[in-house]
Amino acid sequence: MTATIIDGSAIAEKVQNEVAARVAERIAADKTVPLLATVLVGNDRASASYVRAKHKACAKVGIETRGFQLSETASQKEVERLVAKLNADPEVSGILVQLPLPAHLDEHVILDLVSAEKDVDGLHPLNVGLLVMKDREPAHVACTPLGCIRLLEESGVTFDGATAVVVGRSNLVGAPMAQLLRNRNATVTVCHTGTEDLGDVCRTADILVVAAGQAELITGDMVKLDAHVIDVGINDVWVDHEADTLYVCSETGDNFVAHRADESKKGSRRKQGVLQLSTDKAWHKDVAPELPEDDRISLFRKVRMSGDVDFDSVEHIASHLTPVPGGVGPMTIAYLLVNTVNAAELFDK
Ligand code: NAD
Repeated sequence: MTATIIDGSAIAEKVQNEVAARVAERIAADKTVPLLATVLVGNDRASASYVRAKHKACAKVGIETRGFQLSETASQKEVERLVAKLNADPEVSGILVQLPLPAHLDEHVILDLVSAEKDVDGLHPLNVGLLVMKDREPAHVACTPLGCIRLLEESGVTFDGATAVVVGRSNLVGAPMAQLLRNRNATVTVCHTGTEDLGDVCRTADILVVAAGQAELITGDMVKLDAHVIDVGINDVWVDHEADTLYVCSETGDNFVAHRADESKKGSRRKQGVLQLSTDKAWHKDVAPELPEDDRISLFRKVRMSGDVDFDSVEHIASHLTPVPGGVGPMTIAYLLVNTVNAAELFDK
């Protein structure tokens, strides 16, 4: 048996068309055009490219954008003043503060300042709190978990009474994902770095959502037959200078860890030897240890992207599976568009 591959790009396009229709209806009814304001602090190339991609996606569906770029050295007060100004601006429907912020800024204070109605990333404590309360509705929920729910719906899953496992408990993905599944009457277990036997827990899941940031962590032997598997992870696979050993490299907070690809199949507790410095630089402690770190970096090149799920072994066990890339990624941006139109509707008289 081979799993049905869930086409995230096609489903994201469907969502974008729905958003475009809602925007066109608003314009025809003489209502405000949804407008997303983005705040980018510093010169991180990856962050700048994510923001550009979000602006481009908005333009495709008729959502207006306004980009605000502050310097790497912008003060806490400067960022706070900008967010306050955008909160007060009636033309702005949604505000997105691109993360991560430079280390000298207090991310929590800045995110808490975004008005809950304009919090299209769903990260405001009020929105997170309302999500977990019975009979209450947050203004917004984080985009990635909303996208995962839509992928599961489109693949015909029954949530009611299902056993669901979420690997990862981050504010951005794991925690809201678990809550959305619970709110749909699934019985949910959340796994994290303290989970004793990850495989045992994952094997109970009819619905398995993996957001650990650990390349190819979940292998076929950890998956229940016919499970619906959603792979949120985005990791890079690198090859060394002799092009004979692959390394998988995963993001963990501000750092990256790498291990040899052939070591990755040993189960849930792998040795992770390496720290890495930025998204396009990696090194492994065993390669050219005599060289300084900066010289070792040039010994690698990125060859492909991998998820947190070992696609090759899981596709023979699962009934539905998302690919990486082309699974969850496009849905995250699509649901940012949904949240921005929802935000505009919140301000309709
Ligand atoms: P995070 O680092 O904030 O959280 C990772 C979580 O996984 C933590 O709760 C940790 O306890 C758990 N974890 C880590 N290793 C584990 C292990 N060996 N066993 C069990 N649990 C483990 O990461 P995040 O922001 O939640 O993102 C997770 C992954 O999803 C990353 O690869 C990230 O790049 C990706 N991501 C993708 C999208 C998308 O649009 N596709 C969006 C957001 C995040």
